[in-house]
Amino acid sequence: MRLFDTHCHFDFDVFAGDFAAQFQLAKKNGVERIMLPSIGPLNWERLLALSSEYAGLYIAMGMHPYFLNDNSIQTIPILYKQFETPVKHCHAIGECGLDALIDIDYKVQRKVFDAQIELADNLKLPLILHSRKTHN
Ligand SMILES: [Zn+2]
Repeated sequence: MRLFDTHCHFDFDVFAGDFAAQFQLAKKNGVERIMLPSIGPLNWERLLALSSEYAGLYIAMGMHPYFLNDNSIQTIPILYKQFETPVKHCHAIGECGLDALIDIDYKVQRKVFDAQIELADNLKLPLILHSRKTHN
């Protein structure tokens, strides 16, 4: 069976020590491709580096609601700037969305989410959504 893991935070520190071995183990068990959603500027460079180094890794660029703060609105133009030239291996925008169970200003979440919807629409890329208690 051939598998494509469409949502794995494989860049997180827990895998950092033996990333190559973990990725090899996944491949050995049939996982041929993995989509790594980003959390924000904190891991954009790491995702770009990993997807350039390892065939079969794809990335999404975006800003996850968990990692927003009151200054995150100023980061939106920086996210847009990433796409002034095509971003290699980037096939989606995200992880982005809304979360009613975290202590992040909802207006900030909404502005950042709306900007990512617009970016995805402009680029004709899918969104990877995070949504908790905000479906309505
Ligand atoms: Zn996620």
